[in-house]
Amino acid sequence: MTEIGSVTITVLVENTTERRGLLAEHGFAVLVEARGRKILFDTGAGRALLPNAEALGVDLASVSAVVLSHGHYDHTGGLKAFLEAHGPVDVYAHPDVFRERYSVKAGEEPRSTGIPWKRRELESWGARFNLERTMVMLGPGMFLTGAIPRLTEYEKTPEEFKTRSGSSWERDIVPDDQALVIHTARGLVVLLGCAHAGLINTLRHVRLVTGMTKIHAVFGGTHLRGASTERINRTIEALGEFGVDLIGVGHCTGFEACTALYREFGKRFHCMPVGTVFSLE
Ligand SMILES: [Zn+2]
Ligand SMILES: [Zn+2]
Repeated sequence: MTEIGSVTITVLVENTTERRGLLAEHGFAVLVEARGRKILFDTGAGRALLPNAEALGVDLASVSAVVLSHGHYDHTGGLKAFLEAHGPVDVYAHPDVFRERYSVKAGEEPRSTGIPWKRRELESWGARFNLERTMVMLGPGMFLTGAIPRLTEYEKTPEEFKTRSGSSWERDIVPDDQALVIHTARGLVVLLGCAHAGLINTLRHVRLVTGMTKIHAVFGGTHLRGASTERINRTIEALGEFGVDLIGVGHCTGFEACTALYREFGKRFHCMPVGTVFSLE
């Protein structure tokens, strides 16, 4: 795989912000700039993407592709506003990104958590969907993993994630969840949406498909919020396999996992509030 010289990752939507004039929102979106190409990875829940890009002086007009890490509303909800502002664009995702999905908890009304629009609506607003279940090259040195096998026994999607099967509910393991991988001179850079496939499953799959062992950096949501202490500990122990130099997490990572990762990684650990820029050589 071709190495990419420098990579810049700018956080446009995240649950937190520490700077005046920026909006926090339960959601995630980052702009990836590599080899003169700009890729929007996820779009947030809808309200924060465009105002934050403007406040940060980030030009979204030159974005050449959008990637949807999975079909949850907090990653896809900004797509309409983006398309209206940008015009037609290639959108990469797994076909199950359009799955009807809900959060179903005892004693509560089921809550719709899927992509807020139909495929044909998004197409009428300019989305050109490239839907693949397997790995897709986005350019030299850059690819989307496709579906990630679920192999660890401690990384499970939450019980409340459901999809409809006829008139009953069925577990939704979010089969569409995938990561974006960039090959740099220092190793692989892995960008996660929520890592519903599991952080360790994701990194092991990346290692398997690339044949490369060194993961230089990991950024994004890890969905360890609400995870058991045992799962968090096992995740951190397994992370030792990859030689990660830099870890930036946020969105659905949760306080307990953040503090545990900070203890492990020290100054190599970063939160990623809106406006954070990671520049990698
Ligand atoms: Zn999600
Ligand atoms: Zn999320």
